[in-house]
Amino acid sequence: MDLVNGSGPDQTRDARTMWPRQLRPKWLLQNLLPPALLTFFARTWYLCLTDIGPKYIGGTLGRPHLGRLYSAFATVSISTITVLYLRLYFLPSNQSVPPRKPTDHIPHVKTYEYPLGIPKSIVFQNDVPLTRCDRPSCSSRWKPPRTRHCSDCGTCRMGFDHHCAFFANCLTAPYIPIFLLTLLYTPPTVIILLVPIIRPLCERAAEAYNLSRSSPEIISGWYHWTGSWFVAGGPIGRYVGGVVLGWKALDRVDGEEALRMEIGALAAAGLLLAMMTAGLAASSIESILRGDLTVDRERAKSFRRIEAEVHRLARAGKPVPDKMQESLKKLTAQSFFWVPVEFEDGIEFFAQRNGHNGDSLRRGVIVPTLPWEKPYDLGRARNWNLYMGQGYGWTLPWNAWHRISYLKNVILDWPLSPEVEHRLRDEAERIIKSSVQS
Ligand SMILES: [Zn+2]
Ligand SMILES: [Zn+2]
Repeated sequence: MDLVNGSGPDQTRDARTMWPRQLRPKWLLQNLLPPALLTFFARTWYLCLTDIGPKYIGGTLGRPHLGRLYSAFATVSISTITVLYLRLYFLPSNQSVPPRKPTDHIPHVKTYEYPLGIPKSIVFQNDVPLTRCDRPSCSSRWKPPRTRHCSDCGTCRMGFDHHCAFFANCLTAPYIPIFLLTLLYTPPTVIILLVPIIRPLCERAAEAYNLSRSSPEIISGWYHWTGSWFVAGGPIGRYVGGVVLGWKALDRVDGEEALRMEIGALAAAGLLLAMMTAGLAASSIESILRGDLTVDRERAKSFRRIEAEVHRLARAGKPVPDKMQESLKKLTAQSFFWVPVEFEDGIEFFAQRNGHNGDSLRRGVIVPTLPWEKPYDLGRARNWNLYMGQGYGWTLPWNAWHRISYLKNVILDWPLSPEVEHRLRDEAERIIKSSVQS
């Protein structure tokens, strides 16, 4: 593919950039979440292997074989998820950072000097040269197509998808298969591990709630205490607090180890994680199939929102603030491609008309995409195969692992939709011809 395009400007600089990174809520969150998650994985695995597998399923339920099978499943599934997660967590801070300037070994990316002294290249978008990142931390680093600057990491990343607080780094295209598998493995693991204990745990929770409602101690100490409305987070949290206190009281009475409150709390956290990962997996799959990265979708959403607002103002006969027009310009998905054209005489003429001599000939034309055109959308099946490979091998963790090196090349040279490429080439030739004729 030797049409080349540039990546767009980043989102408007917002208030966040005025704060030191350590004071941003996201920074705190991303430093607390990973250790919390890893502790959760380790503790869950330990309890499955000690209390639930052998003691509860093997002992209380009298099914020792099933208990061993349960422990084995817990070990294989939790360790797989943990290893995949750690692969993302230990991504180096310079992952997917573009090289300072295009190097010769990058296929199809050729640099040209522009007459205005713009120190690069074929890559243009939105009518201004945006091939370089102007943030101080990037100091004019080259921005290949689909590169975005992450303000959380303070660097540009090729194939940027989103910055993820769960592993305190950016998700970029090469790691999407691993990310997706981590998301997809989690809900079934949680469900299978919960099957033997979910009913007794629910019954225990109900019992704990009833006890809290009949225990004079909990009634006066918790329910009659005004703070109960605030401490646990509002009216619903108040009931959760009641259940916790009742559960603790129950645990003191009968010491039923496999159904103790800690296990109930981990089960609840597991269910929450399963719901979150299932939702994220669904939206990631949809993005992959549409040929979008999360950042593309978010920007398109913002664009549509502002565009609707502009239309509304225009209909009402009110002035549209410059800031809004500015935002639309920044968020537009329209991009500009440099299209090389083999049309020797025409090029010569075109170049002369544009004040070039033969050496610095621009052998091509800059062509904008149409507003609805998606140059990187190859069609659902090909979009999927680009990330996940052919067949069903993608369901296996080591395949996602091996996919990284392939996708590392993709982010330097994204394949274009054949239809869009065709139209861009036709349009380039049309421009050249009309320029020659006039
Ligand atoms: Zn940058
Ligand atoms: Zn980041």
